[in-house]
Amino acid sequence: MGELKTIGVLTSGGDAPGMNAAIRAVVRTAAYNGIRVMGVRKGYNGLITGDIFEMNPRGVSETLQRGGTVLQTARCQEFRTAEGVARAAEIARIFGIDGLVVIGGDGSFRGARDLSAAGVSTIGIPGTIDNDIACTEYCIGFDTALNTAMEAIDKIRDTATSHERSSVIEVMGRDAGYIALHVGISCGAEAIIIPEKTFNFDEDVLRPIIEGKNRGKSHYLVILAEGVGSAIPMAQEIEKHTGISTKATVLGHIQRGGSPTVQDRLVASRMGFAAVELLIAGKTNRLVVMQNNKIVDVDITEGLEMQKSIDENLIRMSKVLSW
Ligand code: ADP
Repeated sequence: MGELKTIGVLTSGGDAPGMNAAIRAVVRTAAYNGIRVMGVRKGYNGLITGDIFEMNPRGVSETLQRGGTVLQTARCQEFRTAEGVARAAEIARIFGIDGLVVIGGDGSFRGARDLSAAGVSTIGIPGTIDNDIACTEYCIGFDTALNTAMEAIDKIRDTATSHERSSVIEVMGRDAGYIALHVGISCGAEAIIIPEKTFNFDEDVLRPIIEGKNRGKSHYLVILAEGVGSAIPMAQEIEKHTGISTKATVLGHIQRGGSPTVQDRLVASRMGFAAVELLIAGKTNRLVVMQNNKIVDVDITEGLEMQKSIDENLIRMSKVLSW
């Protein structure tokens, strides 16, 4: 393999706060090592259409603290086909891109794996607010999303307590309950409903509310992951069965935005730095991940085969602490 002269960087799939900090780290680590960096806009779409521009260290100033992604992100159907991957590899070759850093989720890593097989060295960085990638303890964006949800829920709780209300808050998580579980514990929820666990409305929602009322509680908080159901009908059911006034709130896309927290800036910086060092070392088809609180790398194919499970002990603890 020849000397690494030019690398590309793109963000793909759902955006997450901290992606910019990762892009900045990639650009500056590369520049420091005398490597040219090309930014690819809108995920794999930009690689297929050639929406590619040169980036430099000063160009990423003032991005560390910004949410979203300055490279924009998108989903790209064409890239899922063999022709799409071949086209992307050809465009990378035309632009002289020998290595590519892909910041995204599982889907984006499947694309990176295919691109690596097509001859472009690829390194993935996990960025998704859902924190649902099995081979890493942490994904960029999770902490910011949690803090955004927590601040919103604290505000709702103030008014709920004043009126002795019940609140159902729908948080993000179509297939994963990590946001719901972590924010639920952090906000003292009476009930946390997540996709990984089947739930019984009477046992898991009504009972903790009624028992909480009998023990003298003045508000009742239900955190619902969006993948399980909708907040509005659940709030109506709670009100119907308990007689307690119940309001529904859907937090929605507010959870995706905002300035990244220290944790997200720090992890993104460490991962971006590590990704370029891996490319310099001649590696491909690797993911930069966090394991045992350390930044390490794993094979993409092996990483994608891993299964993530929810921590049963956290679920048990959440019930005890809302007693
Ligand atoms: P995420 O990366 O957040 O999981 P997606 O699943 O939407 O988001 O994937 C982002 C993009 O990655 C897709 O639009 C597509 O271009 C590419 N991709 C997803 N799955 C595959 C796959 N199985 N093979 C090749 N490319 C894929």
